[in-house]
Amino acid sequence: MTQIFDNPADFADEALDGFVAANRGYVARVDGGVVRSTEVPAGQVALVVGGGSGHYPAFAGLVGPGLATASACGNMFASPAAGQVYRVAKAANAGGGVLLSYGNYAGDVLHFGQAQLRLNAEGIETRTVLVTDDIASAPLDQIEKRRGIAGDLTVFKIAGAAAEAGLSLDDVERLAIRTNYRTRSLGVAFDGCTLPGAEAPLFTVPAGHMSLGLGIHGEPGISDHPMPTASELAELLVSKLLADKPDDAGTRVVAIVNGLGTVKYDELFLLFGKIEKLLSAAGLTVVEPECGELVTSLDMSGLSLTLLWLDEELEQFWAAPADTPAFRKGNLAPRARRELAGPDAEKAADVERPAAAAAVLGRLAADLLGQTRDVIVEHEEELGRLDAIAGDGDHGIGMRRGVDAAVAAAEQAAANDGGASPSRILTAAGEAWSERAGGTSGALWGSAIIAAGLALGNRDSYSGEDAAAAVTAFTDAITELGKAEPGDKTMVDALLPFRDAFLGALDGGTSVGPSLAAAASAAQTAADQTAGLRPLKGRARPLAEKSLGHPDPGAVSFALIAARISTHAGTATPDIASPDTAQTHAGLTHDEPAKQGARA
Ligand code: ADP
Ligand code: MG
Repeated sequence: MTQIFDNPADFADEALDGFVAANRGYVARVDGGVVRSTEVPAGQVALVVGGGSGHYPAFAGLVGPGLATASACGNMFASPAAGQVYRVAKAANAGGGVLLSYGNYAGDVLHFGQAQLRLNAEGIETRTVLVTDDIASAPLDQIEKRRGIAGDLTVFKIAGAAAEAGLSLDDVERLAIRTNYRTRSLGVAFDGCTLPGAEAPLFTVPAGHMSLGLGIHGEPGISDHPMPTASELAELLVSKLLADKPDDAGTRVVAIVNGLGTVKYDELFLLFGKIEKLLSAAGLTVVEPECGELVTSLDMSGLSLTLLWLDEELEQFWAAPADTPAFRKGNLAPRARRELAGPDAEKAADVERPAAAAAVLGRLAADLLGQTRDVIVEHEEELGRLDAIAGDGDHGIGMRRGVDAAVAAAEQAAANDGGASPSRILTAAGEAWSERAGGTSGALWGSAIIAAGLALGNRDSYSGEDAAAAVTAFTDAITELGKAEPGDKTMVDALLPFRDAFLGALDGGTSVGPSLAAAASAAQTAADQTAGLRPLKGRARPLAEKSLGHPDPGAVSFALIAARISTHAGTATPDIASPDTAQTHAGLTHDEPAKQGARA
């Protein structure tokens, strides 16, 4: 249970500030994370790691010479936003290109992936190596679907040492990929962890039992087993990892016994001793092992075993020195401090002049965001519980953080003289949502709101066509970014029926308000029906069976929001016309009849 905080919502930020204050010789704070505070030789590849907070020493504790150049740090268990990753990577870049490396989670892939596109577009050559070491999360023939747990350390360490040795981006990437393919982990939990301020843990393990195959975000294990003895546990972990060993494995391995938060070091050592004997008995030589807390999951009671099968090249980089707040090995010459540029200069004040109709619709958009926040606040706990069944339990908290930030940003934009257009309101809101929410849903909702805003723009009048274009843009943003297919058990399963019902009703001559109501009801039915699906995308995928019989949290939250917006819009919306029955609304003029079939 986390007890030391003022406001749980500020926990990750304030903890990171304090971490930097305690380690100024190593790290400096930048917007979105930390970067080395010591000089990085010009032309050195920048290794940018990261992910959610709550995993210390991953990820900020691993920043320093011989290891990471910088870490992008998200909220508790939530990915940093794309803009944050981008800014951290810019601060880390020393002219040798950037390698992004992080555990394979949908939210991180979305945000780091967007940052990579932006960095490459600016001419900063950027590559990605995902860590996929957790053997419990997918079979060996689908290794690319596995999630990353304590194997983060082997990949980061070897990539960091290779960068330190002056290797090129190609070589650093190649070594990171090889390390990942030769790293396997398996974890067990004896009890769950509790997010700061939350009343209950994300999962619990029945008394006298352990949960095998845990995740590091409070995802429960794959199966529960009676609590074994230490010797039985060592045997179980070693035999499962050896059965999954890479081709061409060799006989030299790094072994890492990793505590997840509350298991005592003495217990970890006791287990390590038994594991080492078993590995020797299997003909393996253990090389420079680690035993301690390396990738944690807040106050989770649990541990994992990681094995990295070395080859000569990997062994050289594993053994190389590193000097970071949490991981020190060998000796490195002391580094001079470097000057870091301050945060980017404030953007020039936006001088938008919203058209009258745009200002009315902008105000409505801000109100609808307020309604969205109300419905999320009402259902926050329920959404968290739904996500805890097979995901990581943060859907309620993440949506809350996102929508709170979106409403604040929208209201700030709306407070401008003359109001603000829907484009201005929704882009500000979407950026804030994505930045603050983290997680998969945060990236998707943020981008979708921005896309809808851009589609609505700043016009003299709005028609049903515009409403159709906004809904289409919202939907496309989510399907293009998340790449989920219908039936994957995601919010897309509620979103597509919503879009289809909305466009269908408009096409049939229904006006916007009733079309929205029909769409919201289609979304509700579809969200309920996701209970019958197995998740094929996102964090719930490894626990597909547990999720059967329960609806997808992202689909449920979408349907709830759709329902609230349609109710509110039904009474308060400008009476925007259906495509073939142009109407006007107080403050909205409608000069030209809407064109049929103008939308995709
Ligand atoms: P995270 O999974 O990062 O913890 P949340 O818990 O906030 O993020 O959101 C989980 C929801 O995100 C899922 O219930 C699902 O509806 C949605 N989701 C996950 N992956 C995708 C995807 N690729 N496309 C669309 N929606 C997705
Ligand atoms: Mg989640």
